Amino acid sequence: MGTVPKAWTKDAAARRKRPTVYKGVDLEQEAWRYCQALGYKRNVELQVVHSARLGSEGRQWLMVTKLTIGYEADLAHVLETLLHEICHATHMDHSEAFISLCVHAARDIWGITIDGWDKVEQGKASCRAYAVDEFLRHRLAEKLAAGEYRPVQFTHSP
Ligand SMILES: [Zn+2]
Repeated sequence: MGTVPKAWTKDAAARRKRPTVYKGVDLEQEAWRYCQALGYKRNVELQVVHSARLGSEGRQWLMVTKLTIGYEADLAHVLETLLHEICHATHMDHSEAFISLCVHAARDIWGITIDGWDKVEQGKASCRAYAVDEFLRHRLAEKLAAGEYRPVQFTHSP
């Protein structure tokens, strides 16, 4: 293992205490917001692991969403990965039906529309769903920066 960044070690205690909070965002509440928008009858169980590696990823198994958040991960990337995984609760593959679900959820939740999303090309991505992910991450990053989308903030219970 390489050198663990100092800034990462500094916040370790906070991450251990509340793993589902990232950059002030309550990822569990955020996940539930997505479940509601998708019309799920129940919420996913969110499990979050923080990693000193770069890059974030997720896994979905039944109604359990596992999110690995990499060092200094971009919030838009984390939220988009979260939505992608939650969409896998009903579609296991990266089919057109899955992409359609992600795109429509992104519109309903974040207000991001992709004109001609069914024409988005795979490009360098390993599948079309990942190419759509890339697009959504960029747009979401812009929305977050402009304050046009407000993720659920973590608030300490009184
Ligand atoms: Zn996937």
